[in-house]
Formats: sequence, C-alpha cells, structure tokens
Amino acid sequence: MIIKKVDFIIVGLGLAGLAITRELNKRGKSFVVYEDSSQVSSYVAGGIFNPVILKRFTPAWKAKEQMDIALPFYSELENDLQQKIIYRWDIFRRFHSIEEQNDWFVAADKPLLSPFLDQNLVSNSNSSVKTDYGFGRVMHTGNIDTELMLNAYRQELQKKQQLRAENFDYELLQMNGDILIYKDIQAKQIIFCEGFGLSRNSYFNYIPLHGNKGEYIIVKSPALQLDFAIKASVFIMPLGNDLYKVGATYNNHDKTAEPTSEAREQLEASLKQVINVDFEVVHQVAGIRPTSGDRRPVMGRHPEFKNMYCFNGFGSRGVLIAPYLAPKLADHILKNSLLNAEIDVSRFQKRYWKRT
Ligand SMILES: Cc1cc2nc3c(=O)[nH]c(=O)nc-3n(C[C@H](O)[C@H](O)[C@H](O)COP(=O)(O)OP(=O)(O)OC[C@H]3O[C@@H](n4cnc5c(N)ncnc54)[C@H](O)[C@@H]3O)c2cc1C
Repeated sequence: MIIKKVDFIIVGLGLAGLAITRELNKRGKSFVVYEDSSQVSSYVAGGIFNPVILKRFTPAWKAKEQMDIALPFYSELENDLQQKIIYRWDIFRRFHSIEEQNDWFVAADKPLLSPFLDQNLVSNSNSSVKTDYGFGRVMHTGNIDTELMLNAYRQELQKKQQLRAENFDYELLQMNGDILIYKDIQAKQIIFCEGFGLSRNSYFNYIPLHGNKGEYIIVKSPALQLDFAIKASVFIMPLGNDLYKVGATYNNHDKTAEPTSEAREQLEASLKQVINVDFEVVHQVAGIRPTSGDRRPVMGRHPEFKNMYCFNGFGSRGVLIAPYLAPKLADHILKNSLLNAEIDVSRFQKRYWKRT
C-alpha cells in the first residue's frame, strides 16, 4: 500500500547522496533516502580539499570551478547543521630533490596554479621532520570533517522522516509507466548514489566502476608537534591532541572494506621515512573509492529507464566533485540540460546494450 508520494528516491547517503539531496531540497523537491551503511568511503575519507595533484604539480580536473562551488556549499551546510565541519590549513609538499624544487617553480608560475602554489620555498622548522630539500606550500586547502557532517545530516533527515536506514533491494523496485514504486513509496524519479556499492545494482552495474581500496592509520605522537599537513610519500594530517591521520594507501585488488596489516605496515614504514620521533598506531580505517575506468565521474540517465539516474565515480576527490556536479545533475533531470560527454553515463551505454 502506498503511504508516501515523493519526487525522488535516493539510494546512498555518502558525499554524492548528501550533495544531490541538498540540491533537490533547494529546488523544492521531495525525497526519501535509503542508506544501509554498507560502504564507508565518505566516512573514512581524509576529507581533504586540494585543487593540485601533488605528484606532478598539475591542476586537478576542473579544480578551480570545483573549489568555487564546494567551499560555499560546505559553509552553508556548516551553518545549517550548526556544526564546525571546515578546517583550513596549508599543505606542505616535501621535496625529494632539486629537480622537484625546479618543477615546483615552473608550476607555480602557471596561471591555473599560481593562486595555490607559494612561489617561495619553505625551510623546515620542525626537527621531528626529515627533509633535505624543504617544502612547497599549497594554499587555500584544508579538510571537511566528513564523518561529523554526514552523521549530523543523517540526523536531520531522520528528524524530517526523509531517511530509511535500510538496504535498498533492487528486485523490489517496480516501474509502472512514469511512476516508480518501492515498498510503500511512490516516486517520479530515482537516483542511485551507492559509491562502490553500485556493483550490486543490476540496473547500472554495466558501468566499469573499479573500486580502489584506501586505508588510513591514526597515530599518536606527542613529540611530533606538527601544526600543518605534510604531503610526502604519505599524507600526514594533524587532528589535534597529538593525533595524526596518516595515509592513504591505494589498492586496486582488494575489494573488502576491512583494514589490513599490510596497509598498516606500509603506512608505518612510509611515516618513519618522514619523521624521526616515536608514534603509536591507535586506529585504522578502510574504504573503497568508487573509481571509474576512465577516472571521470559517471552520472546521468539510464539508457533504457528514463526516470532512473546514477551519480557516482568520484574516485579520490569526492569532497570537491560532489557539490560541483550536483547542480548539473539536477539541471539535467529537471531542465533536460545536456551533461558534458566526459562525465555522462551514456559514454558506457554500448556495454549496457551488449549485455541485454
Ligand atoms: C581512505 C580514503 C581516503 C579518502 N580521502 C579523500 C580525501 O581526502 N578527499 C576527497 O575528496 N576524497 C577522499 N576519498 C574519496 C571519497 O571518499 C570518495 O570520492 C567519496 O566518498 C565517494 O562518495 P559516494 O557518495 O559516491 O560513495 P560512498 O561514500 O561509498 O557512499 C555510498 C553510500 O551508499 C550506501 N549504499 C550502497 N548501496 C546501498 C544500497 N543498496 N542500499 C542502501 N544504501 C546503499 C553506502 O552505505 C554508502 O553510504 C577517500 C577515500 C578513501 C577510501
């Protein structure tokens, strides 16, 4: 029996689900979210926003546009939730050679990067950190406390009876002309935002979404006394109270969400190359990044079912990408605007028709 009629069903409340529901809410659309806590990528993420790829000193895809939209998005959310979620700090990129320093100077001169890369080299002022070549400073960066944000937002939706904390069972979805029926809900459209959980979704699992497992360790080190983040072979992010988040690993093979001893050992070894003081591992987390075959987001309409959409493929950069793309997806659904071909799910539709 139908007891609730809504405009949208949303499946998944990670960064993608949060961004699209905020956008739909702004546009006066009603929705119900299903969330079963089967994926934790958005919860365990470092939450770092950084427009620069620090391996090669190049701008990330649409970095400037994403920063311009994402930061006001999180400020507004911070205000609505009455919780501090944005932390701003610079990233200090540790150099390994004179060549890297030279590459930095060249990059820092480029128009897209010059607002973010400090032209001056920074010498080391912390004797607990090993560096022969100093640092380059990346500005206007920081992190979002994604766990706190998602928990607080989840509570808001629960209060408004817009959240069902349960698994969405794809087999129970019925399509009746333009109407979708799921259990007691009747909806006009459905958006799947399941991250790597998309692999269980029989409507969209033709998309080549190769999960990439990431792990962080949390270490305690009273002697380290670091008040900035370091990017070396690992990222070291101060959390306060002598705690630091250290990571993350990248693993294309293991698709389980459990923390592993291999990753812990790898991270500990990398950390020892950067600092020369003792630390103790106090916690470890793991999640699967939803990474597409061509490393671009994957969003848009199902090839066959016109009121069915996906919003996925944010890889290792969901914090900046989700708020940037949510308005584009909403325009696509509600105003029929075109999506850029490089992110439109239609680029994979041959795979769907081949399979059916
Ligand atoms: C270790 C690690 C560190 C990272 N660090 C950063 C970082 O510093 N900055 C950054 O920008 N990005 C980072 N990322 C990447 C970022 O976490 C992802 O891009 C982002 O979380 C993807 O969000 P999502 O909403 O698409 O997917 P998810 O976070 O996976 O969310 C999908 C949600 O859908 C739910 N779901 C799935 N299937 C169902 C179903 N059938 N029924 C109900 N619910 C369902 C899941 O429980 C989950 O909550 C990191 C990732 C990892 C693993």
